[in-house]
Amino acid sequence: GSANIGVTGLAVMGRNLARNLARHGHQVAVHNRTNARTQSLVEDHGDEGTFVPSESLEDFVDSLQKPRVVIVMVKAGPGTDAVIDELVPLLEEGDIVVDTGNAHFADTRRREEALKTKGLHFVGCGVSGGEEGALLGPSIMPGGSKWAYDRLGPIFESIAAQVDGTPCCTHVGPDGAGHFVKMVHNGIEYADMQLIAEAYDLLRQGLGATPAQIADIFRTWNEGDLESFLIEITVDVLSHIDERTGKPFVDIVQDQAEQKGTGRWTVQNALELGVPITGIAEATFARSLSGHAAQRAAAGEAFGSGVTDGWVADGDRDAFVEDVRRALYASKVVAYAQGFDHIAAGSEEFGWDIDRGKTATIWRGGCIIRARFLDRIREAYDDQPKLESLLVAPYFAEAVSNGSDAWRRVVSAAALNGVATPAFSSSLAYYDGLRRDRLPASLIQGLRDLFGAHTYRRVDAGGSFHTLWAGDKSEIQS
Ligand code: NDP
Repeated sequence: GSANIGVTGLAVMGRNLARNLARHGHQVAVHNRTNARTQSLVEDHGDEGTFVPSESLEDFVDSLQKPRVVIVMVKAGPGTDAVIDELVPLLEEGDIVVDTGNAHFADTRRREEALKTKGLHFVGCGVSGGEEGALLGPSIMPGGSKWAYDRLGPIFESIAAQVDGTPCCTHVGPDGAGHFVKMVHNGIEYADMQLIAEAYDLLRQGLGATPAQIADIFRTWNEGDLESFLIEITVDVLSHIDERTGKPFVDIVQDQAEQKGTGRWTVQNALELGVPITGIAEATFARSLSGHAAQRAAAGEAFGSGVTDGWVADGDRDAFVEDVRRALYASKVVAYAQGFDHIAAGSEEFGWDIDRGKTATIWRGGCIIRARFLDRIREAYDDQPKLESLLVAPYFAEAVSNGSDAWRRVVSAAALNGVATPAFSSSLAYYDGLRRDRLPASLIQGLRDLFGAHTYRRVDAGGSFHTLWAGDKSEIQS
């Protein structure tokens, strides 16, 4: 075969990834279960580079140079397993199968294990940036063996987004590490969007501002620390006017947020690992709450919405906007700190040795959470690879403590005026909880010991203890 890389699965993502590869001078073997997609790719974009189309999977495999590199970009779940099952008998020892779909990292671990026994390299690879990213340069998060990355890395680095000459692609770690990091990326994306939505809601209710006016505020914010893709597109969405009604677009869209499940995966796994990713969890639950239309209607009828209209006094408007900006930034720092803690915990649990500084580096471009402040995160982890929490790195510590008065004013104003800000509020609670010298967890330990003899540790002695609560309340060592 003559092609140096192949893509099977040519829906929007696979099609654009194949075009990106071809545009960068790779000879790309292309295949799709339904041949019409392959034909249309070659007809519409054949002039962008060298495509080697095949109608059957056998011909597709034969058209590849050995050791073969096959990218599978199909519907995640059973679709991916079906394609792998078909592909494996056609491959030879040393070939590399790359799954760029949105797989759960546990599936990736299972598939990697299975293919390894057949002498094949399986690379679970996170790709972020949507359709446009796939075509113009995504953020690429490959897992799998070092050996596979030596072969794949140069190809992926050539098609990834580039920031300051550095590609947004690195070998994340063995087996499921790439898909794990992609999962946490998506979780952070949930938190980021929820925080933006809460900031918008506060400005709208507090100031009685129009979506277009709020778009202008976000436009200004995008020139500072908050500069990011999500803030940039918030300006576009808020300033958009619905063609049919002439109303602001945000007012004609149903207010029930949907999800494909990666936020849920992140929260489920964080619960298993015991990592408090409260920002991501609140963001995921906020989407669920928005979807419960009947309950919302019942509660609205029972209580009314209770929001104070335009509570910010005329003379306080600029200060309020600045407070919301600071609260948004501080909450965002918390969400990222939690996400990076989650990566550290996953890395520890599965022995992946993930470099968090490098992870921040490859999220600077191409992906949905790309943002100016990822440079700061990279610097923080480059300075101190074992940093206890992003919150205590000098730059972030300053941002959070400088913003904390504003944060408190915003969260209390939200509570007093009936605006729900689950992500702002829980991020502040996390910050306050984390820095306390004594937490009321001591009382919880006492309760657990009383009703269940679960024992406790003392501040002044080693070992575990139990109090004989039903007896003379003396203490025994257990
Ligand atoms: P879809 O998820 O809609 O999947 C459609 C593709 O999968 C088609 O090529 C289809 O073939 C193929 N397929 C499904 N089942 C099978 C099967 N049993 N055997 C063979 N082929 C099968 O495509 P997208 O391009 O939207 O996404 C591809 C992957 O990328 C998914 O895993 C998705 O989660 C992930 N992803 C998507 C992003 C996005 O923005 N859309 C962003 C990042 C990742 P056929 O044409 O014959 O039906």
